[in-house]
Amino acid sequence: MQETHCHVCGGRITDPATVSYRLASSAVVPAAPHSTLCPCTPAIVYGPPAGYMSWPGLPIKLDAGSGP
Ligand SMILES: [Zn+2]
Repeated sequence: MQETHCHVCGGRITDPATVSYRLASSAVVPAAPHSTLCPCTPAIVYGPPAGYMSWPGLPIKLDAGSGP
């Protein structure tokens, strides 16, 4: 089972129900994942929930660096 890590602190998330998913952005650099538990409320994860190939209702920005 894939672990989820908070993108704010890099901590491990034990309850995915507490995660607030945000639109991924090239302007955001996620913290490096580590094994410490995430203390954030809510934990922030950029991108779709694990297991989702797409995210209906929210466009996934695949910014390869060719911005305006
Ligand atoms: Zn966190």
